Formats: sequence, structure tokens, C-alpha cells
Amino acid sequence: MRENHVDSNGHNVSGELDESGRTSNGSDSGDENENEGEEESESEIKIESEEENESIRENESENEEENDGETETAILGAITTNSSPPKYGCQHYRRRAKLVAPCCQQVFFCRHCHNDAMDINHPDPRLAHKIDRHAVAEVVCSECNTRQPKSDVCIACSIKFAAYYCATCSFYDDEISKGFFHCEQCGICRVGGRENFFHCPTCNCCFPHSIKESHKCFQDALKKDCPVCLDFLFDSTHSASVLKCGHTIHSHCFQKWCRVNSFQQCPVCKKNNLSDPERVWEQYDTYMTNHPMPEEYKDMPKQTILCNDCLVKSHVPFSFIAHKCEACQGYNTDVVVS
Ligand SMILES: [Zn+2]
Ligand SMILES: [Zn+2]
Ligand SMILES: [Zn+2]
Ligand SMILES: [Zn+2]
Ligand SMILES: [Zn+2]
Ligand SMILES: [Zn+2]
Ligand SMILES: [Zn+2]
Ligand SMILES: [Zn+2]
Repeated sequence: MRENHVDSNGHNVSGELDESGRTSNGSDSGDENENEGEEESESEIKIESEEENESIRENESENEEENDGETETAILGAITTNSSPPKYGCQHYRRRAKLVAPCCQQVFFCRHCHNDAMDINHPDPRLAHKIDRHAVAEVVCSECNTRQPKSDVCIACSIKFAAYYCATCSFYDDEISKGFFHCEQCGICRVGGRENFFHCPTCNCCFPHSIKESHKCFQDALKKDCPVCLDFLFDSTHSASVLKCGHTIHSHCFQKWCRVNSFQQCPVCKKNNLSDPERVWEQYDTYMTNHPMPEEYKDMPKQTILCNDCLVKSHVPFSFIAHKCEACQGYNTDVVVS
């Protein structure tokens, strides 16, 4: 029998910073209205990205809203959009250097601008490629238009391209209040302040010190495709969640998925992601007791079920409502068609 109990709640992670992330600056603005059915005492980890980073904010929920158990793992959605255009740089970053893309020699303010200009589904690779930020060797000063090897200061007009510069990531941004730092092990720049994070070599990700003891490790947790939309999560600008089983998925894809799937089942392994499954099973016990099968079904043969949580098969009385696993007492089961 497989032990499936996981103490920690799902880590909530987000993909790369997009233009909407500009307003976040470590605040929790915009998250509240996305928190459906969150339980008190449920701790959420939001991983916010900068240059494909996954730095994290912790959000101790005070929301005491009760719910029906089907939406217990609240998922933080996208951060509110700030539509005000920057004074310089692009919609993504404040910088005075444009990147010369090593792949196509085109000039863009940032890699998001480059990738947005591409059609990733286009059959022609010249129109469908992504930029490799680490391979960027040259920049163009946006003040004097001089093309030059990348550095922090323009060789022609001496302007500083941005307050934060990472040569490894070819990354520039003036918004240092985001707490940029480069994690050597991740190989990318992150936000949130180096002093607030540790790098987990198993998860291959930086996490806040506050979850150092409690977090469950999953190998390369984010270097997977979203099982619903099949986008690569590590690159994604949408936030992602690490489910209790360790599988990762876009937060918004999981929300949609849970609307049509019971027990917040993982789309990959079908294990439940309920924050308090025992309580939900008790509700089912009560319901089943109060709704016995009608007389005409009393003589139906027993059914064979497979438990999605503990993977044990049971032979249980016929029901068209639900089937209880005899091994783990849960209801996350499927009838096995013989
Ligand atoms: Zn390119
Ligand atoms: Zn210049
Ligand atoms: Zn970096
Ligand atoms: Zn790291
Ligand atoms: Zn870990
Ligand atoms: Zn997805
Ligand atoms: Zn799973
Ligand atoms: Zn079971």
C-alpha cells in the first residue's frame, strides 16, 4: 500500500514575470479576489519569477470561508495588470539596453519582446524560436543606438543601462525594489532578495527560508509540461502549482480542471489534492448513510473498485453514488470494468 499522506499544502509557483507582474513588487495585491474557497490555516507559497526564476512569497491565509471540499486548495491566480506604459524600456522591464538576439540578430528590449514577436506554433523555425538569454553577447544602447558587447554601461554615451545587471542572464532592470539576485545553482536571476531564500538542489528551485523544514522535495518540480495545456511550466508566464503528489500544473489550468473533476484529482496520477480529505470522506460517509441504495438494487453484485489514492482494489457493495476504498477509507475511487 502506497503512503499518500502529504502534510504540506501545495506550493504555489508562478512562471516568468510578464507585464502584469510589474505591479507585484512583493506585495499581495490582486491575489485576494482569486482565492476561492481557501481554508484558514492553509499556507500558500507563491513563487514569483524573474527571468524564469521561481522566488517565492508566503501568504498566510486568514480567509475563513468554508467550502464544499471540492475547491479546497485555493490557487493564487495572476497578479493584477498595470496598463500604464513605462517611461523607458519595454512593457516588461525598465532598461536602456536592447538585446541583440543571437538566434536571429534582431534587436529587442528583452527576451519576452523577442518571444512575443515569434509565433511559437509556426512551422518555420525562424518564426517559432525562443531566445537563449545566456547566449546574448551584444546590446544596443537605447539612448545613443550604439551596438556593443553587453555590459552595464554604454561604451559610447556612458549611460548606465539599469540599476541591476546580470551578465550571465543578460538581464537589466531598474526596479531594484524587486530584490533581484542571481542564483548560481538555478542559473537564473530571481526576485525577492537573496537573504530570504535557499536553493533546494532536489527541486532545483529557490524557496523561502520559512519552508525549509516543511517543503516536500520533488525532482525538478517545474521542469515539466502542464498536463492540461502542455506548455512548458519553467518558461511559462502563468503561475503554477505543485500538487501534493508532486505533479505540477498551471494554477489556472488546475482551477478549470477541478470544475469538472472530483476531489481535485491530479490530472496525471488522479490522486486527490484536498487539503483535508478526511473531512470530505466523513461527509461522504454521512451522505451514503442517509442515502441507501433503493430496494431494487439490493441484490446487485458487488463491484470492484480501484482507489486512486492508495492504489488498492476492493470489492464493495453496488452503488451509483460513490464507492469507499476499504484500505484507506477514501472515496477517490473508480469502478474497475472487468
Ligand atoms: Zn531570435
Ligand atoms: Zn549609449
Ligand atoms: Zn542572472
Ligand atoms: Zn536557486
Ligand atoms: Zn526541495
Ligand atoms: Zn496549463
Ligand atoms: Zn499527480
Ligand atoms: Zn484507498
